[in-house]
Amino acid sequence: QDNVKKFRKRHRIRVYGTDIPNPFHSFSDLHNIYEFQPYLCKNLDSAGYKQPTPIQMQAIPIILHGRDVMAMAPTGSGKTLAYILPILHDLNSHKKIGYRALIISPTRELAKQIYIEFKKMCVGKKFKICLLTKATAATQAQDPHLKQKFDILISTPLRLVHAISQDNIDLKNVQHLVLDEADKLLELGFLDQTDEIFAACSNIKLQKYLFSATLPSGVESLANNFMKDPIRIVVGLKNA
Ligand code: ADP
Ligand code: MG
Repeated sequence: QDNVKKFRKRHRIRVYGTDIPNPFHSFSDLHNIYEFQPYLCKNLDSAGYKQPTPIQMQAIPIILHGRDVMAMAPTGSGKTLAYILPILHDLNSHKKIGYRALIISPTRELAKQIYIEFKKMCVGKKFKICLLTKATAATQAQDPHLKQKFDILISTPLRLVHAISQDNIDLKNVQHLVLDEADKLLELGFLDQTDEIFAACSNIKLQKYLFSATLPSGVESLANNFMKDPIRIVVGLKNA
């Protein structure tokens, strides 16, 4: 445990909560300890990702252990991959039961980037990922079978709430819910959309993750209101 403390300190990782899983050290640990499938390791390699970033080291094991996470790390520190990897590992492979992971992103541009990063990590697997837009929402409205086709959904809050209200989207099998760039989500008025979205994600096995670059009080209360015994991670110098 002393070594773990030193390791966290060296990487400027601070953690708060109960029964906190240890950080992992290198991407090969994901294969050796967590039995990640070879395709994931291959795709990490192809992307040129050699070493995990601190937020990845600490957030990934926590998600893999089934816990809720509230993660704070500076812009550019690799938060996207910190949830993509454990989600793909847990989903295991494509299933025809509908969305099992939902990523909420503040803007269309960021949502698109998340989509591209997912695609990059999925090479060699048959996962189906939907980036919800006016066009893809309309297609799914026309063909009810499409609802079962996708594993992962990425959307902005308003687009998602609209699809839910039109009954175009089924979120009852969602097991992983990510609020990405939560500080920005709140700035854009996300609290007005939370009720509909959380109500639609009715699976009792739902895990929730909140990622943010900063920690305004709104993010803290969002975590307190919606998460179950979350582990908090703070990476970097802020509030040191
Ligand atoms: P954040 O969401 O924290 O602002 P991103 O997830 O957008 O950061 O990542 C920033 C950049 O770092 C991206 O270009 C991404 O491809 C790259 N990146 C992520 N993880 C790693 C890693 N382990 N090694 C090298 N580059 C990485
Ligand atoms: Mg980000």
